[in-house]
Formats: sequence, structure tokens, C-alpha cells
Amino acid sequence: MRKKDRVRLARGLMLGMTTLCTAALFGAAGNNAAMTFAGGAAAVVQAEQGVLRGLCVALDAGHGGYDGGAVGRVSGEAEKGLNLDVAIRTKRLLEEQGAQVIMTRTGDYALCDENPPIRKKLQDMQRRARIIGEGRADIVVSIHMNEYAGRSESGPQVFYREGCPAGRLLAGAVQEAMVEGLRPAKAREALGGDYYILTLGLPSVLVECGFLSNREEEAKLLTEAYREQVAAAIADGLCRWHALAGEKPEPLEAVDRRDEPTGDA
Ligand SMILES: [Zn+2]
Repeated sequence: MRKKDRVRLARGLMLGMTTLCTAALFGAAGNNAAMTFAGGAAAVVQAEQGVLRGLCVALDAGHGGYDGGAVGRVSGEAEKGLNLDVAIRTKRLLEEQGAQVIMTRTGDYALCDENPPIRKKLQDMQRRARIIGEGRADIVVSIHMNEYAGRSESGPQVFYREGCPAGRLLAGAVQEAMVEGLRPAKAREALGGDYYILTLGLPSVLVECGFLSNREEEAKLLTEAYREQVAAAIADGLCRWHALAGEKPEPLEAVDRRDEPTGDA
């Protein structure tokens, strides 16, 4: 049996998003005393109201089908299955908070044709973009696993579109939640990056959940319990971002891709 078959989809393991989100809300308001004092009662209220009600989140599980993405150095596990598993867990947690969630893929497949007239990867990305656009998502969260030639690199890392203040704000909130929630050996900071999925004109982040090239982190990412923690941290980050006071900055406009071949002819 291939290792990837052991990746079971989301079940059980409620990690209390209500509590996380409530803490995030109070944290954002700068009232930590209230958090510890009234957190329990407030948590019940928040669960009923759904702190993310009205927000539509596009979750993009990276890779799929012929495109496995990064591979576990020890296990040989491809990131595509882990990405989808984390996305499904995150979906459940976000929906518990009242968010609407769109998934760009729900199984082990690429979104491109077998033999498209353009690069398979480009068609795959275009179709993900179309799902996100047609679903009228407010924000995009793309989920990936990292790898690096050296084995020592580790830690979750959140990317946003270079120069996009809206993406940077969202990425900062998710990065902070991941560092606090997962306590990685190396606490990274959100970084600007150049990824197709971040250029759709929405506040967008690409979450590298950890390094499959790092022995310890790979082992953790292969467990359901840790992937549930990762999902909870991502969802917590979105709650933190959503609860930020004041108007949020506008995202950069979508990259104009009218000249790109669509492969749908
Ligand atoms: Zn990837």
C-alpha cells in the first residue's frame, strides 16, 4: 500500500475553533484579561453567531493527479494528498465559524485536460482561478507543503503577493497563528512571493505548512493529529484577520491575462 493511501480524510478531532477564534477576537481588541475571564461564555455566543459569517473563503489544495508536488524525503509521500487533507480539515473548521468555503479540488486530480494545447500546469491554474472567480470568493488560501535541497530547513511559511498590502495583512495573521499554534523550531515570517494563485485580485495567501525535506517535520505532517493542528492554525489566522479593527487594505488588481492562451478552444 502506498503511503498516500494512509492519508485519511477529515474525521473527529475537534480542536475547538470556537475557543481559538474567541481568543483571537479578544486578542485583536487588546483585552487579554477579558479573554481569560469571559472566554467560556463568549465562546458559546461566538459559536452560535459564527464569527466568519458572510465570508467566502476559497481553499486551494495545491497540485493533484499527475502533479504530486513536493515529496517526503523519508516517506516518499507526495504533498498533493496532504494538501487536500489539510484543506478539508480547514474547510470544516471555517464552516463551523459560519464561513462559506469553495474548494478548487476535492479529490486526487489535476484540473487540466490530458493533452491540453497549452502547458498542463497553466491550464490547471486557469481552471482553479475560474472556480475561485465564479464562486465569488472574498479571499484565497492555497495550501502546500514545502521542500528544500538541504534537510535542515523547517517551519510553516505563509506567502503573499509581493507588494500587495491586503495579502500581506492576511499572511501576517495566518503566519502569526501558525507560529503560536504549532510552535515550530524555526519561527518564520510571512514573505512576498510570485505565485499565480496570488494574482487574482483578492486578498490571497499561499501557506507552506512545513518542509517534507525535513525529517522531523515530515514525520509530524504525516500524522492526522498534526494536520488537524495545522488546519486549526490556518482557520485561527483567518479569524484573527477577520477580527482586525478598521478597514482592510485593498488588494492589488488581478494580473491581466487576456493574452494568455486559455487552452479551452
Ligand atoms: Zn506545492
